[in-house]
Amino acid sequence: MILIDGKKAAAELRAELKEEVAELKSKHNKVPGLTVILIGDLTPSQIYVRNKEKSANEVGLKSEVIKYPDSVEEKTVLEKIQELNSDETVSGILVQLPLPKHIDKQKVIEAIDPSKDVDGFHPMNVGNLSSGYESSIPCTPLGCYLLIKKIEPNLSGKKAVVVGRSNLNGKPMTQLLLKENCTVTITHSKTKDLKAECLEADIIVAAVGIPELVRGDWVKKDAIVIDVGINKTDNGIVGDVHFGEVSKNAKALTPVPGGVGPMTIACLLKNTIDCFKRSQI
Ligand code: NAP
Repeated sequence: MILIDGKKAAAELRAELKEEVAELKSKHNKVPGLTVILIGDLTPSQIYVRNKEKSANEVGLKSEVIKYPDSVEEKTVLEKIQELNSDETVSGILVQLPLPKHIDKQKVIEAIDPSKDVDGFHPMNVGNLSSGYESSIPCTPLGCYLLIKKIEPNLSGKKAVVVGRSNLNGKPMTQLLLKENCTVTITHSKTKDLKAECLEADIIVAAVGIPELVRGDWVKKDAIVIDVGINKTDNGIVGDVHFGEVSKNAKALTPVPGGVGPMTIACLLKNTIDCFKRSQI
């Protein structure tokens, strides 16, 4: 079984991006800039944002974090986004989710200029991805896609099952696999026989949020299994895939932690650089 090393893959991607930033700097005499808006003092969000800032600095991006208290008015955030939209030194804008209840998430997402939407959540980018046009792609599915392509460069004709249909993970993942000519089944909480669906799959991507849902006898020999889940349990952090059981069957599997997670931030940096490059055309 191939243990898909997300840490190594992310480090390789960051090294490539660092070189690309240096080249862009010498060509344009400026570097891509990432601005993150962080609202409130939720610890996980603070950790994510700190890691994003550290990684952005490592590859040579200009990075800025704008912090607001939980009580900030929606209007203030929307005005700041407008200001960042017209700031030429800002290539990418990310508003860290979740947001306090009084702030309308969709309004915030739609306020971001689609050409600076490094999360790929703006309806314009969602539409572009599903129409097969160039777009920002949500970072976690993009990371999963790059890991799958490392194991199997030609996905044409493969059967893929995506478990979970969130806008964040399942739906964009489905679009990426479809673009690679996979035959894709997207499953969810109302799917009748999830085990039977998974048993058909050459590729399984699990993004559910249920600890160890995908069991060893759900997985065909030689399947590639990507575990997006991050679940806190009494036994520590586990994924949506039963690692012990599935590792006995699968051809390749991502561990949790150390699989998809590290690729997510690396892909955010990639998206920022891609937004910059598109803005220079
Ligand atoms: P989400 O928005 O809660 O969506 C979960 C999806 O799973 C829904 O579509 C739901 O179906 C489906 N589902 C629930 N129970 C199911 C079942 N028994 N069988 C099949 N499908 C079922 O979750 P998310 O935001 O996509 O996150 C999923 C997991 O990924 C979480 O553990 C999260 O922490 C993790 N995550 C990891 C990263 C990373 O960087 N590695 C990034 C983001 C999220 P319905 O639509 O029918 O409700």
